[in-house]
Amino acid sequence: MSLVRALARFRALLGPEHVLEDEAGLARAGRTTIPDPVPPAAVVRPGSADEVQALVRVAVEEGVPLWPASRGKNWGYGTLTPARSGTVVVLLERMDRILEVDRELAFARLEPGVTYRQLAAHLASHAPELWPDCTDSTPEGSVIGNALERGVGQTPYGDHFGNLCGLEVVTPTGERIRTGGGGFETSRVWNAYKWGLGPYVEGLFSQGNFGIVTQAGTWLMPRPEAFGSYTFGLPREEDFPAMLDAVRGLALQGVIQTRLHMFNAYTGLTVVTQHPHHRPGGARFLDKRGAAALAEEFCMPPWSFMGGLYGSAGEVAARKRALRRSLGRLGRLTFLDDRLADWVPTAKEVLDRMARTPGMRRLARFTTHRLLRRSPEILAAVPHVHGLLKGQPTEFFVRHAYFKSHPEKPDRDVDPARDGCGLMYLAPVAPMRGREVHELLAWLEAEHHEAGFDFYAGLLMVNPRAVVVLLCLAFQKGDPADAARASAFYRFLVEKTLAKGYPRYRGSVAFPEDYYAASPALRGFIERLQAAVDPAGIMAPGKYGIGRGAAGRP
Ligand code: ADP
Repeated sequence: MSLVRALARFRALLGPEHVLEDEAGLARAGRTTIPDPVPPAAVVRPGSADEVQALVRVAVEEGVPLWPASRGKNWGYGTLTPARSGTVVVLLERMDRILEVDRELAFARLEPGVTYRQLAAHLASHAPELWPDCTDSTPEGSVIGNALERGVGQTPYGDHFGNLCGLEVVTPTGERIRTGGGGFETSRVWNAYKWGLGPYVEGLFSQGNFGIVTQAGTWLMPRPEAFGSYTFGLPREEDFPAMLDAVRGLALQGVIQTRLHMFNAYTGLTVVTQHPHHRPGGARFLDKRGAAALAEEFCMPPWSFMGGLYGSAGEVAARKRALRRSLGRLGRLTFLDDRLADWVPTAKEVLDRMARTPGMRRLARFTTHRLLRRSPEILAAVPHVHGLLKGQPTEFFVRHAYFKSHPEKPDRDVDPARDGCGLMYLAPVAPMRGREVHELLAWLEAEHHEAGFDFYAGLLMVNPRAVVVLLCLAFQKGDPADAARASAFYRFLVEKTLAKGYPRYRGSVAFPEDYYAASPALRGFIERLQAAVDPAGIMAPGKYGIGRGAAGRP
C-alpha cells in the first residue's frame, strides 16, 4: 500500500484544493461526537461520478482503503470518520446537483451532496405540489447519505431507504452500475420501479461496503388536499402500554400515517432547556425524581408525540375522530392547522413579554401552566414540528445535543461535532407491543441510572409493527474518563439488548464487532459476498464489522 503515491495521484486527478491532508485540516474534518474516533488519512472531494471512478481505480492499484460520505453529518454514529486507520474519506459534498424532478411520477433524482434544505427549497419554488421528507436532525444532512443509513423521517415517506429507487453506484473495482428498475441506461422505469429483475441488490449499498452511490432517485409525497398535525401528551406513565397498543392499532388501520416519534420527558427537556448543573446539589444526572421535577416546570408530560394528517378534508376529519376515540381517553390530544401553527410564535412572544413585565408574571404563568398547559418553551417547538411533518427541515431539535455540555444552545448554525458535544446514539428495535416495550424501557431506565446516566429515550415507529428505541448517551467530550465511562456503558447496552433479542437498526463506527455476534452464518455469507465484490479490500473496511481491508485485517 502506498498512501503517499495514492495522494499524489488524487491531487493530479482532482486538483490539490480537493485533497485535504494537512493535520489541522484533518483534525477539523474528523471531529465527531463519539469517543475515540479514527481520524481519516486524507479527505478527497470528487466533483463527478467520473472522478469517483478514477479515484476508486487508483485506490485499487495503490491498495488504499476509501470511506464514502455524502455530507458527513452522521452525528452520534460517527460523522464522516472511518472504522479503520489509514482510510481516505471520499466526501461527496461537491456533487450537489438536483438532476431531475419528475412532477408526474413524483420523484427526484439527486447527487449525494444534495441536502434536505436544498431539496425542500428547490421543490418549494419549482414543484410546490411535491413535498420531501426530512429528519429532525440537521437540514444540512444529505438526503441520500441518510437514506443509505436507513434514517427515519416523519411523514408517510419517512422510511428513507424504502423510498429510494434506482441507484447509480461506483463498485469497488471501479465500474459504474445502475440498480432498480431495469438496471440499464435506457430503462424507462429506473426511478419508478424499485425491484428490477432477478436478485434485488439495491440493499447491498445500504449500511454496506459494496460501493459508492453517485446518484439516486427518491420518491416524493404529493401535497395532500388537506393537512393538519396533532400533539399528544400522556400524563400517566402507567398508561404507556395502552398508549403504544392504541398507536399500533391506529397505524395498522392507516389512521396514523406518520413515522411517529414518541419521546419521554427527559428527551423533551433536552430540547427546551439546559441541564440544571448550577442548582444546589447539582447531580451528574437527573434521576426519576429530578427529571420529573424539571418536567413539571416545563409542563412536559412523561410521554409525548406529534403526528401529521394527510388526505382530503373528509379523510383528515375522519382521522381526527378516530384519534380522539382511541387516544382521547388516555391523554391530551391537540390538533393544529397551518393558521394556528403560524399564530403560535406571536402567542409565545406575547406570553414572553408578559412574563418579563413586573406585575404580569403570575398571569403569564397561569396562562401557560394552567390554561394552555404548555410552557413558552414547548410552544416555541410547535411550529417546527408542524413544519417537519410537511418535510420542512429545521435545526431546532438537534440542539438537544447541547443540553449537558454547554450553558446554552445555539440559535443557528448548529453543529454538535464542531462544538465539542459528546453524544452517542444506540438504537435497538423492538416489536410494537405496549407491555413489552414498557418493560424494556423500565429495565433500560434502571440500568442508565445505576450507571449514572440520564435516561434519554425516543421511540421511532418505523412501521406499525416495529419501534426503534432511540437512546442517547451524553458525555463530556473533553474528559477522557467520562468518555471511557460512556463507552463502557454503550458496549454493555449493545451486548445486553442483543442478548434480549433486540438488534440495532443502525450502527455507529464504534463497536462494530457485535453486529453479527448472534448470526455467524449470515456474517460469513456477507463477508464472502463483500470479498468477491471487493477483492482489493478497499471499500469502507470494517463498516458494520464487514470487510478484511487491504491490510488483510479481519
Ligand atoms: P449525512 O450527511 O446524511 O449525515 P453521511 O454523509 O454522514 O450522511 O453518511 C452516513 C454514512 O452513510 C457514511 O458513513 C457512509 O458509510 C454512508 N454513505 C453516505 N453516503 C454514501 C454514498 N454516497 N455511497 C455509499 N455510502 C454512503
